[in-house]
Amino acid sequence: MSGTLFLCATPIGNRGDITERVKETLSAADLIAAEDTRHSRGLLEHYGISKPLTSYHEHNKYEKAEELLGLLLEGKNIALITDAGTPAISDPGEVLVRRCHEAGVPVTSLPGPCALITALSLSGFPARRFVFEGFLPQETKERKAVLASLAGERRTIILYEAPHRLVKTLNQLQEVLGGRRICICRELTKIHEEAVWTTLPEAVRFWTENEPRGEYVLVLEGLSEEEAAAEDAARWSGISLTAHLQQYLDAGLDKKEAMKRMAEDRGVSRREIYQGLLEEEKG
Ligand code: SAM
Repeated sequence: MSGTLFLCATPIGNRGDITERVKETLSAADLIAAEDTRHSRGLLEHYGISKPLTSYHEHNKYEKAEELLGLLLEGKNIALITDAGTPAISDPGEVLVRRCHEAGVPVTSLPGPCALITALSLSGFPARRFVFEGFLPQETKERKAVLASLAGERRTIILYEAPHRLVKTLNQLQEVLGGRRICICRELTKIHEEAVWTTLPEAVRFWTENEPRGEYVLVLEGLSEEEAAAEDAARWSGISLTAHLQQYLDAGLDKKEAMKRMAEDRGVSRREIYQGLLEEEKG
């Protein structure tokens, strides 16, 4: 019988934010795998938990996942914690979780703090549909592609960022999202917790003049329905109605359905589409 991997969410700042079940699980585990063992030892001591610790971090995650998997297959119960929050969310946890699933080792996740959820709930921005991008990629081409994909995003957008990259990221976000509203959450649950509701240009101005310090979550409003409709209309105004129709016919739609979609795309009535097509036909 193999052991179980317990994903234990730990505080993102305030040490009061830990569940009873996480403390019990950490106390009962055979081994605790932690991102930074020195940091985690301090945290565990605070709760009176003394257990063997082993390091599992970004730079050893592939080899170490195999080693931990071996122990789990031998029947050891392992608790995984990271420096902050929920394991596997923008940290090395996901590699070990995936390997456990592949090897048929049971995994269970004990919910608790998570910076993105804390920031989203605080922002007041629409939370029914949101997209979490974690840290933007560092590689230029990949980063540009992700930024470009955010331009038409209607859902609330959440990003993580380190203080030394904050200004660069805000600048690049402004290039694609313009004057969009943003809620910048800093040092959540800590003494210097702060949430600022502003716009991207204002945020660039402020943090260029004031050195960013601490940990940040950026919550951005998605494109509003009106902005999205205006963008759609602008996009379609560049192509003729006949070409627009042909795109849908090529995709296999019948003429009636194609004209219905065209009317939606352009924000006009079906009658206008019909008459416009007739006029284009007449030349
Ligand atoms: N697993 C974590 C979670 O559940 O949120 C995230 C780990 S990720 C390596 C660390 C990033 O999360 C930080 O760079 C910051 O963007 C965000 N973060 C973590 N704690 C935070 C806090 N107290 N306030 C604001 N952001 C925080």
